[in-house]
Amino acid sequence: MGLFRDTVIQLSENKTLNDLTKQMGLKFGARKFVGGVDTEEAIETFKSINADGMSVTFDNLGEFITDTMDATYEKDLILEMIKAIDEHKVNAHCSVKLTQIGLDIDYEFCKTNFREILEAAKQVGIFVNIDMESYRVYDATMRMLDEMLEEFDNVGTVLQSYLFDSEEDVIKHKDERVRIVKGAYKEDPSVALQERESIDIAFEELIKKHLTEGTGFTSIATHDHNIIYNIMDFVERENIDKDTFEFQMLYGFRYDLAKQIVKKGYSMCIYVPYGNDWYAYFMRRIAERPQNVNLLVKDLMDNPAVKAGTITAGGLVVLGIISSIVKMFRK
Ligand SMILES: Cc1cc2nc3c(=O)[nH]c(=O)nc-3n(C[C@H](O)[C@H](O)[C@H](O)COP(=O)(O)OP(=O)(O)OC[C@H]3O[C@@H](n4cnc5c(N)ncnc54)[C@H](O)[C@@H]3O)c2cc1C
Repeated sequence: MGLFRDTVIQLSENKTLNDLTKQMGLKFGARKFVGGVDTEEAIETFKSINADGMSVTFDNLGEFITDTMDATYEKDLILEMIKAIDEHKVNAHCSVKLTQIGLDIDYEFCKTNFREILEAAKQVGIFVNIDMESYRVYDATMRMLDEMLEEFDNVGTVLQSYLFDSEEDVIKHKDERVRIVKGAYKEDPSVALQERESIDIAFEELIKKHLTEGTGFTSIATHDHNIIYNIMDFVERENIDKDTFEFQMLYGFRYDLAKQIVKKGYSMCIYVPYGNDWYAYFMRRIAERPQNVNLLVKDLMDNPAVKAGTITAGGLVVLGIISSIVKMFRK
């Protein structure tokens, strides 16, 4: 399965495929994981999640941003969503990928954009989480967090349990709000654990440390029921206040389990991506759970253009890639 994961993650980093799929709308099963194509649709999704007793963290989809105009456009979309959250009084906060607002273009340009987001969010009492991307941007992301923490109290980030650095980071950030995850990118053995079992052990250890060492709020982001139940036992045993942490899951994953967790009296936050730029996000979800390929196949079979034989050239390329993935998975 390592080869499968590596191949799909490599495909997720292909800008040409990303550009092709962007023009196609929410296709190939992506709608199951994406909460709408624009602010308006996404707000309706947030409302229905709130109605089930859960909060939301939103992610304006958009990767491979290398142009200042695109980065400014994406920043404006995030500002638009912050305004809409305030207007509609939905329970939602912000997740931001720094590369989307210019980290790959110029650090200071990105910082100006990010400061604008933090200011707008602070004015209406919204927290902003910096998503952690690949290790390539790890140092710049941590530097941005440290600098913004000097000016704002509504900012936090993500620690990935596969990274060796996280053991120290969890102590450094014990008094801040942190999301803890296993990690979704392909990283070099010199910087990250490679074996699933050791990543899981490190994951539980990081969560327990952050829950017990400082005063920072802990977001435990996973669909792994074993780890969720272990943490529930731990917090009961240690008498940890349920207001000091929450569980988080991605939109479209294990919603029944999320509802059960809420019924037990725990807080649950759903991470909702929205927008047309779904390709890289969706491919990472397939990499970590190959069963999601079945969604692609089903959607393809139901696709009117495929049925009528009128699929575009771009669609054909994507179809070719997807059928190779399906073949690999079924071997
Ligand atoms: C809210 C949220 C935010 C995230 N943010 C980031 C981020 O900023 N940076 C980053 O690198 N990564 C992020 N991730 C992704 C994360 O790093 C993992 O790649 C991803 O969550 C998969 O790991 P897992 O812990 O869910 O469990 P996995 O290791 O994928 O699964 C463990 C076990 O759980 C069960 N399971 C898992 N999913 C399902 C399912 N759908 N149905 C049935 N059983 C299932 C299976 O038994 C499986 O073997 C985020 C994840 C979440 C949930």
